[in-house]
Amino acid sequence: MSPKTALIIGASRGIGLGLVRQLHADGWQVTATVRDPSRAIDLQALQGVHIESLDIDDAAALQRLAQRLSDQVFDLLFVNAGILGPNHQSAAAATAEELGQLFLTNVTAPIRLAECLVAQLRPQSGVLAFMSSGLGSVANPEGNNLALYKASKAALNSLTNSFVCELPEPRPTVLSLHPGWVKTDMGGDGAMVEVADSCRGLIEQVERFAGQGGHHFVDYQGQQIAW
Ligand code: NDP
Repeated sequence: MSPKTALIIGASRGIGLGLVRQLHADGWQVTATVRDPSRAIDLQALQGVHIESLDIDDAAALQRLAQRLSDQVFDLLFVNAGILGPNHQSAAAATAEELGQLFLTNVTAPIRLAECLVAQLRPQSGVLAFMSSGLGSVANPEGNNLALYKASKAALNSLTNSFVCELPEPRPTVLSLHPGWVKTDMGGDGAMVEVADSCRGLIEQVERFAGQGGHHFVDYQGQQIAW
C-alpha cells in the first residue's frame, strides 16, 4: 500500500515541525512549507520530507505553490501557520497595520490557501485541517488578555465554516483543531503540553475523523469544543 500523503503549512518550528516529525515517523510522505527553507535546519534533517518555500500572506506565492504541487493528491492538508498579533492585544490601541497583519495571517490567508489546494485532497477520505485554538470559542470566558488573537481564531472558524458550506460535494472532512497549551515560542512560559504529545493527539484526530465528513471543532485529545 502506498504511504499516506500530507502537506503541512508553516513547519519551521513549534507544532508545525512537530507534526512533520510525527507524520514522518509514522511513515507518511510529507511535504512541508516554511518561509525560509535555508533556515529550516531541523526540517532538513528529516530525510525524505519535501520542503517548499511559502509565506502564507503572499497570494501570488499560494498560486505558485498550488501550481508546483498540481499533480499531487494529499490525504491531509494542515494549515498550521499563525501569529499571536501585537503584544498589547487591545482593539482600541491596534493600528490598521497590526490588525491587517493578524487577520491576514490567521484568517484570510489560511482560507485562500485552502481554496487553492482543496481540489488536491483525496476524494472521500481527505482531511482539511486548520489550526484554530480553544480561545477561538466565543463560549470560552478565558484568554481575554489575548483578545485580538482570540477574535482572529473565532473569525478563522467562521470563515472556515462559510468556505466549507460553499464547497461542491463530495466535501472533505474539515477540522478546526485546538492543540492544547503547547510548549513553543508562541505558547511561552507556563505552557502545559509537550509538542510531541500535542502532535500525536492531533494526528489521532485526523485519522479518527477521516472519511466522516462535516466540520468539527475538537482538541488534541478528541474533546469537542463549543463554537
Ligand atoms: P510558533 O510561533 O512556535 O510557530 C509559528 C509557525 O507559524 C512558524 O513555523 C512560523 O514560521 C509560521 N508562520 C507564521 N507566520 C507565517 C507566514 N506568514 N507564512 C508562513 N508561515 C508562518 O507557534 P506554535 O507552533 O505554538 O503555533 C502553531 C499554530 O498553533 C498557530 O496557528 C497557533 O495560533 C496555534 N496554537 C498554538 C497554541 C500554543 O499553545 N502554542 C495554542 C493554540 C493554538 P517562521 O518560523 O517563519 O516565523
